[in-house]
Amino acid sequence: MSQDCLFCKIARHEIPAKVVYEDDEFIAFHDINPMAPVHILLIPKRHVVTLADLTDADAAWTARMLRLVPQLARENGSSPLPEGGFRLVVNNGTEGGQEIDHLHFHILGGARPWSKRAAPAA
Ligand code: 5GP
Ligand code: ZN
Repeated sequence: MSQDCLFCKIARHEIPAKVVYEDDEFIAFHDINPMAPVHILLIPKRHVVTLADLTDADAAWTARMLRLVPQLARENGSSPLPEGGFRLVVNNGTEGGQEIDHLHFHILGGARPWSKRAAPAA
């Protein structure tokens, strides 16, 4: 826990959020500025800044966090795979576009189709 961290405060319920899931380790809530019809943020309650801070000791809970992603995507409105689906985005560091320094997964869905890399010219 970090006293001044916004997402730690959400995890402690000191700042309100539209929570869609919570257990002892994680909390998930709607992004305040959604970029897609489905835009859920999934965070660990422990204060971790980026993926680069993880070690082998974090293997078990990070696997549990990953396993929550498809469940939360489906429960919050993304269409079933394989025709539907969702996007998982994790911004890391300044050049990675990270604004909140507490590890978070963006679970994005309901926008179809996601842009694809333009096909190379023939
Ligand atoms: P980042 O740019 O760090 O990857 O993403 C931070 C995300 O947190 C942004 O999508 C932003 O809209 C969201 N966000 C920032 N402040 C709040 C807040 O107080 N509540 C909620 N629910 N989301 C927030
Ligand atoms: Zn934090």
